[in-house]
Amino acid sequence: MSRAISLDGVTKVYERGIRAVDRFSLDIEPGEFVVLLGPSGCGKSTVLRMIAGLESVTEGQLLLDGEDAAELAPGQRGMAMVFQNFALYPRMTNRDNIGFPLKLEARGDVGPRVDATARLLGIEDLLDRYPAQLSGGERQRVAIGRAISREPTAFLMDEPLSNIDAKLRNHLRAEVARLNRELAVTTVYVTHDQAEAMSLGDRIAVMRDGVLQQVGSPREAYALPKNIFVAAFIGTPRINLLEAVVHAPLPGRVTIDLGRQSLTLPEPLSPDHQMLRIQQGRPVIVGLRSEAVRIARPSLARARECAMSGIVEHVEYLGHEALLHLNTGSRAALVPALEGPHTDTAPGGHRKNKEGTVLGRLRDRAVARLPGFGQEEPGDQGAVGVLEAPPVPAAPPQSAERAAIAGGDLVVRTGPDVQVRPGTHVPLLIDLEHLYVFDQQGRRVCPAPAHQPGLDG
Ligand code: ADP
Repeated sequence: MSRAISLDGVTKVYERGIRAVDRFSLDIEPGEFVVLLGPSGCGKSTVLRMIAGLESVTEGQLLLDGEDAAELAPGQRGMAMVFQNFALYPRMTNRDNIGFPLKLEARGDVGPRVDATARLLGIEDLLDRYPAQLSGGERQRVAIGRAISREPTAFLMDEPLSNIDAKLRNHLRAEVARLNRELAVTTVYVTHDQAEAMSLGDRIAVMRDGVLQQVGSPREAYALPKNIFVAAFIGTPRINLLEAVVHAPLPGRVTIDLGRQSLTLPEPLSPDHQMLRIQQGRPVIVGLRSEAVRIARPSLARARECAMSGIVEHVEYLGHEALLHLNTGSRAALVPALEGPHTDTAPGGHRKNKEGTVLGRLRDRAVARLPGFGQEEPGDQGAVGVLEAPPVPAAPPQSAERAAIAGGDLVVRTGPDVQVRPGTHVPLLIDLEHLYVFDQQGRRVCPAPAHQPGLDG
């Protein structure tokens, strides 16, 4: 039997008033694989431990199969936990480690169950060894085996793979996904690793400061982040976030001013872009995923593409692709919850910038003036109707300035064979269908919340 788990406005306040989880609501279907994702300290483990019954619920209600769980002791919940540190008994063989919980529950001859579990995990050969004679990955498999053998009604996994080296982690990740499919047991999996969350979860619940930010399929969370925090937390390389101001005179074209360059939105405005009129004159943050920008001359622009340009700061070769770090003369926007140490939250859930954070320093450098910005490249003028006087930098920055802005403000994904050197000017085309705009509270205003571009195909 697989459990339905329901959290309704669940809050956890620890001693000294530490509010680890704040009005958390989530319904998990039987057999579903839900990942709790967020930075360290955001309350993920606390949610898991409340589900397990290891922590009390301060406010709100936890329901298991529709029944209030408040009076159920951990042992009565029939759930199995797997932790980051493989909690195995060192003086027991792996066989006994896997069989131990079954023996505790007096389930008769545990041998066949242990053998079946070992087969499922491919660890038959390891059963007569001791945990100390295993690698980290093998130990974690035994720990998972111990959880599985009990045939729990739910698996609660707290960063189970984070002590394992990268290669093996990918392998075990696939195994965890397979096990969940085969056993069809409700799984709640905690991780701070967005790639792990994306690859495992039927749904991802993104948390920040104890507050649930968004719940959705990996695809939804990536394509339609509700706010800037989710947008920045999910996806590698991280979404480009640039400070901007919307200009929407009536009558007149809507432009997004990125500092040195601006994007003029094509007319007629799409329904999403129409929503930007409300932001007239306001500072906003533009989000561009690295695949929403391509390197191409303005004359090659398709409908709904807009031209910009940048100076190559750094080329990051990744084998199968390359990431170009460019300077476009824009200001990289901060998401302090991701950059800095755990800081105070201002009203409205927005944290104040902390001096001295890495991105803060980078941002300050990125606004350093570059010689040559604002000049136009002959031949490209007017080639794209949607761009008003594309400002193409004429001269590469001096090396000292280049070093000062080494991070650039825009990362663009290209094929691995791209032939560009630092200092090269490159023309860019921005895919306006995949332009995100966030307001000053960090909420996504474009695409408009009800519209879901790209999700249909
Ligand atoms: P995560 O799993 O996302 O890293 P946790 O749920 O472990 O986060 O912790 C959330 C917050 O609650 C943190 O600020 C942490 O310091 C605090 N916390 C966790 N456990 C306790 C505890 N037993 N007593 C007091 N504070 C705690």
